Amino acid sequence: MSKVPELFGSMVFNDSVMRERLPKDIYRALRRTINEGTALDPAVADVVAAAMKDWAVGKGATHFTHWFQPMTGITAEKHDAFLSPCGDGSVIMDFSGKELIKGESDASSFPSGGLRATFEARGYTAWDPTSYAFIKDDTLCIPTAFCSYHGEILDKKTPLLRSMDAVSREAIRVLRLFGKDVRRVTSTVGAEQEYFLINKEDYGKRADLILTGRTLFGAPAPKGQEMEDHYYGSIRPRVKAFMAELDEELWKLGICSKTEHNEVAPCQHEMAPLFTTANLATDQNQLSMEIMKKVANKHGFVCLLHEKPFEGVNGSGKHNNWSLSTDTGENLLDPGKTPMDNAQFLLFLTAVIKAVDDYQDLLRISVASAGNDHRLGANEAPPAIVSVYVGDELEQVVDALVSGGAHDKAVDAAMDIGVTALPPIPLDNSDRNRTSPFAFTGNKFEFRMPGSSFNIACTNVMLNTAVAMVLREFADELEDAPVFDTALSALIRRELAAHRRILFNGNGYGTDWPIEAQRRGLLNLRTTPEALERYDDPKNVALFAAMGIYTLEEIRSRQEIIQEDYSKTILIEARTALDLLRQQILPACMAYSKQVAEGVAVKQSIGIPAPEESALVRSLTEETGLLFQRAAELESSLTALPSGAAPRAEYCAQAVLPAMEAARAVADRLEGMVSHDFWPFPTYRDLLFYI
Ligand code: ADP
Ligand code: MG
Repeated sequence: MSKVPELFGSMVFNDSVMRERLPKDIYRALRRTINEGTALDPAVADVVAAAMKDWAVGKGATHFTHWFQPMTGITAEKHDAFLSPCGDGSVIMDFSGKELIKGESDASSFPSGGLRATFEARGYTAWDPTSYAFIKDDTLCIPTAFCSYHGEILDKKTPLLRSMDAVSREAIRVLRLFGKDVRRVTSTVGAEQEYFLINKEDYGKRADLILTGRTLFGAPAPKGQEMEDHYYGSIRPRVKAFMAELDEELWKLGICSKTEHNEVAPCQHEMAPLFTTANLATDQNQLSMEIMKKVANKHGFVCLLHEKPFEGVNGSGKHNNWSLSTDTGENLLDPGKTPMDNAQFLLFLTAVIKAVDDYQDLLRISVASAGNDHRLGANEAPPAIVSVYVGDELEQVVDALVSGGAHDKAVDAAMDIGVTALPPIPLDNSDRNRTSPFAFTGNKFEFRMPGSSFNIACTNVMLNTAVAMVLREFADELEDAPVFDTALSALIRRELAAHRRILFNGNGYGTDWPIEAQRRGLLNLRTTPEALERYDDPKNVALFAAMGIYTLEEIRSRQEIIQEDYSKTILIEARTALDLLRQQILPACMAYSKQVAEGVAVKQSIGIPAPEESALVRSLTEETGLLFQRAAELESSLTALPSGAAPRAEYCAQAVLPAMEAARAVADRLEGMVSHDFWPFPTYRDLLFYI
């Protein structure tokens, strides 16, 4: 592993490559664009493009692509060769500043949620110089934003960049009040990625995994995760080899994959990278998912990124660790050592708490999908209720502040002194509540609701925008205050009191919590359609308009895209389930019961009554009959589909999904009765406990 330092980032046109390959003035101009978001001079772009091309060609690249993140949730690329004809039949490798900065692409086959009329199919991609270009499969990939001909945004990156600007702008205003001179506040993100690895051979035998990414049938294996012997357990050699190659591939792309370990469920693993800026973290996470799948394939595995590939064991999530950090190197969620630092920390903490409470629905929407609905609220996953965990110590501080400091003697004493009349903050991060969807973990918040297959852009758009809005309100109030300290203390107390309800340190998996949450007036948006209804709520429309993120049309388009994605997913699942039932499961049940019945007949013909086997044939026949009926009900649920994205999504949740689950229940019972030799595809035992 001595070559790691050379390997790391070797496929990235990063800062050190830029510094080495660009003339000084060009480098400085580009750096200004990157740091301060200023426009790039076309002359500078030409020089950068030429240097990028030379570097890429030197590494064996032949093509370039504008790499972007349309609303499909995955990344898109269209490859062009660097070739430029010379007129005499020969070619040179060429790449201009124009090609670097802007690309035109046919947008008609990407979801736009009605934003782009079909006659205007053009879309544009524009270079995002804050994310480094990189080489993947002989192609220079240029991270870009994607918008329609008329400028409406069609991707996930543009709103993310806008939200990063918004939170920077408002945080800077707040920091000025504390006498700090900073030029940029960056939202930082580290996305821990969970995934399953299963044998490619088994995967190939299950149409449900191939077509839907999850098992639509499958009785629980005799052993699940109850022994807790997989979590952090020793990693099997084949998986280890996969992880080693994955790390190497990620390192080449400058993705600092740091920790790899086994997760709770059998065959489940996790990769955690080192955090970086929110937009780079998003790009890197998209790349990581792609590379995981590729590397898995080389090792005879399939990497499942679905949120709930197997019922009854843990699903996979993505923990979005988030904080704000200044260009002077200060983490704004790191509690300081002096009372003044504490005051600043408490103000930012209060802002996050208020933002999460005010925009619970948006955070829930940012993690809404058919796949994640199966995970939220099930085995060891946070429920669909958004709440914040700050730890016992910090909660005591909050309570003391809210009640005017009457609770705790130590807090009391501390509160009477110090510049801001705010208490020092005793912190203990060891006691982490893994059941909380939004947990303070010492110097950052960890949002645990995102699903494993998600693009994390949306979650970070919601977080940045909501926090930016609250910081703006705080700055407006404090800038006008006659005495800053007094106004600050009053604001923190008032807002913590107003949002105390969102703090919950108890067991988020407990059955009492939904009842308690309802009493507190918190939202519990169980399904994706229910959550999505609130996307264009007036308060949300006002938020996005105020922060310059989305117009009403853009919100509606996003709402519709997710609703349609939800319905399409469920309909594909339902049709796949029907195929499996009719073409594989029912025939297997009939074949097996026929064999047992023939055995019974033979035995009875020689005077052996075989009553248990007879009974088995009877039960098999009854259950098989019931399964026929359930299949017919599932099929008929598909005939009454309403039109319109919202009603259709709602119908899928209320009628199709339950019909699928009802059929599954019977099929899974039959799996337990039918000989393994007759079962038409690998069972949970085969899938999860291979050697
Ligand atoms: P765990 O949650 O397993 O204890 P860590 O606390 O080390 O692990 O971090 C989890 C993730 O949080 C990592 O991806 C890490 O890089 C990221 N992280 C750490 N500090 C920050 C920060 N200030 N902003 C965003 N992410 C962070
Ligand atoms: Mg974590």
